[in-house]
Amino acid sequence: MEYISYGKQCIEDDDIAAVVEALKSDYLTSGPRVAEFENDLAKIVGARYAVAVSNGTAALHIAALALGIGAGDEVITTPITFAASSNCALYCGATPVFADIDGDTMLLDIDKVREKITPTTKVIIPVHYGGELCNMDAFAELASEYNLAIIQDCAHSLGGKTCGKAQGEYPGMQIWSFHPVKTITTGEGGAVTTNDENLYKKLLRLRTHGITRDKNQLINDNAPWYYEMLDLGFNYRLTDIQCALGISQLKKLERFIKRRKEIVERYNDAFRDSPLKIQHTPKWSSPARHLYTIRLDEKHRRREVFNALLAKNIGVNVHYMPAYLMPYYKSIGYSPGICPIAEDSYERMITLPLHPLLTDEQVGYVIKCVKESFGKVVYSS
Ligand SMILES: *Cc1c(COP(=O)(O)O)cnc(C)c1O
Repeated sequence: MEYISYGKQCIEDDDIAAVVEALKSDYLTSGPRVAEFENDLAKIVGARYAVAVSNGTAALHIAALALGIGAGDEVITTPITFAASSNCALYCGATPVFADIDGDTMLLDIDKVREKITPTTKVIIPVHYGGELCNMDAFAELASEYNLAIIQDCAHSLGGKTCGKAQGEYPGMQIWSFHPVKTITTGEGGAVTTNDENLYKKLLRLRTHGITRDKNQLINDNAPWYYEMLDLGFNYRLTDIQCALGISQLKKLERFIKRRKEIVERYNDAFRDSPLKIQHTPKWSSPARHLYTIRLDEKHRRREVFNALLAKNIGVNVHYMPAYLMPYYKSIGYSPGICPIAEDSYERMITLPLHPLLTDEQVGYVIKCVKESFGKVVYSS
């Protein structure tokens, strides 16, 4: 069997044609395709405004900056996520605080979040890990109770719903990533969505050096050539070339999600009655799955099972090592033991391939190899 990667983009002829068309047009960046992509995205995620940026990490950075957080502020998030989810607090001089996950859903546990709230807490970043959705009705209520802001990290969950609503319908901001392993891709790419006009204006400025030409925002002159830098922003722009790809990819979102769902259901059927633990779908979550992880009942066998699958050309992975166990986080004072369930989950977990181009045969092969490498138990098939 050829190597089966854990994630992979699906680029088709019409995606390529759309990019070529952009290349032949007058705009390579900051042209009409950016606004078109933003409009399409905003509609799909149920938000009023979208700001396309160069990647999901940039989206987290400007979302945190737009809230004005800095030194002395605390930002609560999950440790079972890509490091960018908590790094955005560090970029702003704020302090990431890690709350533990729920062992079944692998999502940030709202009761553990509540325990970590202090007078200096400013933001909660729920991560829709794997494409399962956090209970946003509950998080929105908690945030309003303590006057906190919410940035949803939706890098995994494009197309998912929570509590019957689109992710963009909630207060605060949502961030998205269009890296090739994510649900749709623009090469590198990301976005922030929101329903708040003031945050939207601030995000637009932060994307482009903090500069505005909007007459309503200018402090002084308003000559036709005049612009002002109002914040210390960045060049986090997404190109028209990339947005052309994004527009084309968004049209395929439903098809991609449907195929991912079929594969998840096959994995679930194969592993449900086994000693392997699979990620549960909580009752409020209508998932759009990005990752499929299994957790072994015998954690000392993780390396062996991982290597056995790799030897069979299955591109297994681990998502994620708790962020605070990374050497950098240790160097700034974090230590093991903060989130015991997350640490235990990490030691047991293996990510299996999940992307729309997987064939039924490949999925069957992965299931067979997992059962064999795990070995000692007879599974239902
Ligand atoms: C991918 C990812 C990001 C960052 O996105 P990039 O586009 O790679 O910068 C942020 N959060 C999570 C949970 C991710 O998986």
